Amino acid sequence: MNDKQTTAETNGPRLGVSSCLLGQKVRYDGQHQLDRYLVRTLGQFVEWVSVCPEVEMGLPIPRPSLRLVGDPETPRLIELKTGNDYTERMQDWARERLEQLAELDLHGFVFKRGSPSSGLFRVKIYTEAGMPSHKGAGMFPREVMRRFPLLPLEEDGRLHDPKLRENFIDRIFVYQRWREMLRHDPGPGGLVQFHTAHKLTLMAHSPQHYRDMGRLVAQAGVLPWDELVDRYGRQLMEGLRVLATPGRHANVLQHLQGFLKEHLDSADKAELLELIEEYRKGMLPLIVPLTLLRHHLRRHDVPEWVHQQVYLHPYPRELMLRNHV
Ligand code: SF4
Repeated sequence: MNDKQTTAETNGPRLGVSSCLLGQKVRYDGQHQLDRYLVRTLGQFVEWVSVCPEVEMGLPIPRPSLRLVGDPETPRLIELKTGNDYTERMQDWARERLEQLAELDLHGFVFKRGSPSSGLFRVKIYTEAGMPSHKGAGMFPREVMRRFPLLPLEEDGRLHDPKLRENFIDRIFVYQRWREMLRHDPGPGGLVQFHTAHKLTLMAHSPQHYRDMGRLVAQAGVLPWDELVDRYGRQLMEGLRVLATPGRHANVLQHLQGFLKEHLDSADKAELLELIEEYRKGMLPLIVPLTLLRHHLRRHDVPEWVHQQVYLHPYPRELMLRNHV
C-alpha cells in the first residue's frame, strides 16, 4: 500500500484518511466507501495520507468482519466468525504506523464512521454474549488520539453537516498555521503574531478561550517556551472545537464594522447593520454580510492587523463553507 496517496499537489493541510473513503477497495467485503466530497472537493485543497489499519496490519481482502468486544474503556478487536483476537496485533502495528505519520506532520484525520478499526465516534462495542452494550472509538483512532492529542479529527458522516464541516476545515487550516509557526518562527514574536492574526477567529468560537490565551501570550518571555507552547496549543485546539454560533459571528462582524465608522455614510452603515442582523436571525448565510464587510474594509484605511485577520480568509473561498452556515 502506498504510504501517501495524494489527490492534489497543494501546500494545503496534510490529512490522514481511512483508505476506503478515497475509493480504495480495501473493505472486508472487497468494496470501497468513496466519499465524493472528500475526494473531489476537499481533495483539491489538501494532501491525503491514506491509512487502512486492517489491511496494513496484514489482513486479506476480502476478510471476515471484526467487532469491538468487552470493556468499553479497553475493548478487544475480535473476528466475528472465528473469535480470533487482533487487539495486540493492531496496537503493535498502530504504534509503528503512528511514528511514520509523526514524521509527515499531519494537520488532521478523517475516519470512516462505524468501523471497529477506524470509526471515531459511537462505534458499537459488544458484550461477550454478543449484545451491543456501549459505543466508543475504534481501535486505531484511540491510538491516534493518544499520540496526537491536538490533531483535528472527524468522521465522513459528520462532515455532511455544514456546521461540523466548516468547524473541522477551519481547525485543520489553523492547525497547519500553528505547526508552521512552530517550525519557522518559534519564539515570543511568532506567537504574538499568530495570536493577533487569529483574534477574531477565536472570538467567533469561544471568547473565553480567546481571553485566557491572551493572558498566556502576555507571559511570553517569562514562562519557559515549551510550557507556553504546550498550554497555548491545547487551549487553541480546545477553543476551536467550540462551534461558532450566529450570535458570536454577528458580534465579530459588528466589531469589524466598528473600524469603518469614520469611513461609511449612514446609508452604508445601515445596510451593513441590517445584513448582520438578518444573518443573526438565520435569514442569510454568513457569506452575505461578510462579503460586504470585506468590500468596505478593502476600500478604506483601517489598521493593518484588521486586514491580517485569518477570520476574513480562513480557508480557500472555493470551498464555499460560509454559504451554508
Ligand atoms: S474502515 Fe478502516 S479498516 Fe475498514 S476498510 Fe476502511 S480504512 Fe480499512
